[in-house]
Amino acid sequence: MLLEQLRKEVLAASLDLLKYGLVTLTGGNVSGRDEETGYIAITPSGMSYETLSPEDIVVIDGSGKVIEGKWKPSVDTPDHLYIYGKRQDVFSIIHTHSTYACSFAMLQQEIPCATTTLANEVGGAVPVARYAPVASGLIGPHVVEALGDKSACLLANHGVITVGTSVRHALTAAVMLEDNAKSYLFAKHIGNPVLLEAAEIQKARDVFTYLYGQK
Ligand code: 13P
Ligand code: ZN
Repeated sequence: MLLEQLRKEVLAASLDLLKYGLVTLTGGNVSGRDEETGYIAITPSGMSYETLSPEDIVVIDGSGKVIEGKWKPSVDTPDHLYIYGKRQDVFSIIHTHSTYACSFAMLQQEIPCATTTLANEVGGAVPVARYAPVASGLIGPHVVEALGDKSACLLANHGVITVGTSVRHALTAAVMLEDNAKSYLFAKHIGNPVLLEAAEIQKARDVFTYLYGQK
């Protein structure tokens, strides 16, 4: 099977989205890019993650042509391809409709950066990409515009996109983002959260990039 390891990683992250409660039914999608071939492994459209095996993850090339796999790839495939095309540093993209983050997306309101964890994972407040209907081809351009060098953005009236240097990295950003959206909403009920200054956001990001974890 082509890109067996990457397909397993994409499937494992999809199952983790369920485990962390970030997707409902067949919402959302996950992809990873293989550094050597440039091929992309992406979840099939409209299929329950629990029913999938690694071979159900579709392998496509940079133009969207199916290289291996029997299913139709995610409906958001053109958007994933657009983002990969513009961001050579990105090797995975995850899309969810996670509840707390979606509350901000409905308001077209960014998630302010009031914790070091959001600074670590996203690089600051989570911006909102301009509204684009699914399958319009505009989600990708709007996401790239909103992201800048950050690892996540909200999709106006739709959901969340996170990007990473690996599937695990994009998954961590999706989990942390939802966690932060939730605690920000709770904090708002009891007062006004104190936001982190730009210099503190940079420090937190540097710690995460250079110090945190096992290198
Ligand atoms: P797919 O199942 O085709 O990936 O679509 C899910 C989705 O969230 C569309 O935005
Ligand atoms: Zn969606």
